[in-house]
Amino acid sequence: MEDAFRHRGQRKRLIDQLRAREEFDDRVLNVMANIPRHAFLESTFSEWAYRDEPFPIDCDQTISQPTTVAWQSTALQLLPRQKVLEIGTGSGYQAAVLSLLGGRVFTVERHKPLYKKARLTLKKLRLDRGIRFFLRDGNKGVPEMAPFDRILATAGAADVPPALLEQLSIGGILVIPVGPEDEHQQLLRITRTAEKDFDREELGLCRFVPFREGLA
Ligand code: SAH
Repeated sequence: MEDAFRHRGQRKRLIDQLRAREEFDDRVLNVMANIPRHAFLESTFSEWAYRDEPFPIDCDQTISQPTTVAWQSTALQLLPRQKVLEIGTGSGYQAAVLSLLGGRVFTVERHKPLYKKARLTLKKLRLDRGIRFFLRDGNKGVPEMAPFDRILATAGAADVPPALLEQLSIGGILVIPVGPEDEHQQLLRITRTAEKDFDREELGLCRFVPFREGLA
């Protein structure tokens, strides 16, 4: 996938707008400045890839809005070499961000077509290094790879899945949108301060596609 001059110009403008808000980690914005978002979209939408909007992908899902990616990635405070679990691979865009931030990425998707396509997209872009893909129900996490320093859910859950709390390391951080389907969710940041202690912060309202049960 070529990264046309036009795309690069549009992407720079988008990142400059996000930077001007002074809310997001510079490391996150620098990484987003290097990822061709148009390569994760259907060609119908590639024209608009650098608008600050979510777009439909296969299986009735969406690629998150750039503001949301910047916000969630900043909230996660991922450090290089940390193990990070993402629930909801979708297009693979967020997984690329986590990987370029230096994370050892484990990403889970419940829709087979998305799981396959995201792998292919990231491979073509040579952004798949250090990313492991799983086709399974994210409610259960990935127990055999636990504990994780960071966990990011990119779908809105009715409640926090207990397995995700269990699979967090001590000092680890879980960022997850929680709230009723088809309404706004609260973006939560949950820090595991001790074996049985969790600190919970509300970061603000957001809107995500629903976190579902089981494989699709
Ligand atoms: N991070 C994605 C955004 C994907 S939208 C990106 O960068 O493009 C949320 C994704 O979560 C959807 O693909 C949806 O299928 C997936 N999802 C929802 N519930 C899930 C579950 N229980 N296990 C795994 N994936 C799930």
